[in-house]
Amino acid sequence: MAEPMRPVAVCERHHEEALDKFCSDCSLEICCKCMEDHRDHNVDNLQNVQSSLAKELHQLLWDLQERISVIKAYVESIETELTEYNEATETVCTEVDEQVQQIYEAAKKLGDHFKSQLRRTEMEEETKLDQLQQKSHLNICRIQSSLAYTTERMKDKSVVTSHDTIKRLMTLKTEMDCDSSDALPRLNIGRFTSGCINIDMLYQLLGRLSNGVDDGVLEHAFDLKLIKLDFDKWLYSSEQQIKNTHWRIGLKQTLNKSTQIGLCYEGGADSTQILCKFTVEILTLGKRLLSFPDQNTFSRKQIYVLPEEIKSSTYASETLTIRVRMNRIDKFY
Ligand SMILES: [Zn+2]
Ligand SMILES: [Zn+2]
Repeated sequence: MAEPMRPVAVCERHHEEALDKFCSDCSLEICCKCMEDHRDHNVDNLQNVQSSLAKELHQLLWDLQERISVIKAYVESIETELTEYNEATETVCTEVDEQVQQIYEAAKKLGDHFKSQLRRTEMEEETKLDQLQQKSHLNICRIQSSLAYTTERMKDKSVVTSHDTIKRLMTLKTEMDCDSSDALPRLNIGRFTSGCINIDMLYQLLGRLSNGVDDGVLEHAFDLKLIKLDFDKWLYSSEQQIKNTHWRIGLKQTLNKSTQIGLCYEGGADSTQILCKFTVEILTLGKRLLSFPDQNTFSRKQIYVLPEEIKSSTYASETLTIRVRMNRIDKFY
């Protein structure tokens, strides 16, 4: 795409000499007489310079045009990535919800089972009481009719009749004494003792959250109220996966009122032993209490108790966040 050359101008200093040269050192159009002043400079034919500049410019514009499409494609791929990421996150959230729903339904089913058991017992007890009530009503009727009959018979004032009547009434009275002195049956009233909700067990029921990246951060905010309930007992975070290895953080309140941190290796996909380098940060109320690097060799289901302990007096909040950044995981086979 050669552009038409513009007409050659005339040198201001040397009239009638055409400005047909270019000094690239001075970036100046010059004539052949000006050459004297540009002796050691890079001087070329103006037309050559013009056409090579045009070519260069053209190439640059082309390159930049190319660049635009590359950047556009890049932007598009970012958008695609972002969409996929959003969708993946939504999918995981839905899966978590579904699992929560399933746990709820299983618990609900058990609860319904408890309730139906309780109601069946209640119905049986009700039947028993109903029968007793009916029998008592019948007894009242029997006494009333006996009394009416007696009143009628007594009108003739015969001794024989009186004698017989008293005998019959005595028998009836003994029978009634027997019936009404029956103690009420002891009712089988159900009692419910609610179980303790075990967070650790709930984590296991809920499942595991893992990310796809290589180096990772384990983080858990521990509820210190729970820890203080159980001295000398480990409380664990949920399990997290980093580089195909599974981890949990443990926290324990010791009897001398300091808090111990444990890093628990739950095993990996393919190795028996691993060497892990990590940094541990302890945060409370957004402040960092401690940060230190450490390393250890782990085999399956092993808890490594970190040498640093935190005194309870150093934190005042309800939660303590432990963040373990895995810097390097080496596997031994
Ligand atoms: Zn000149
Ligand atoms: Zn020059």
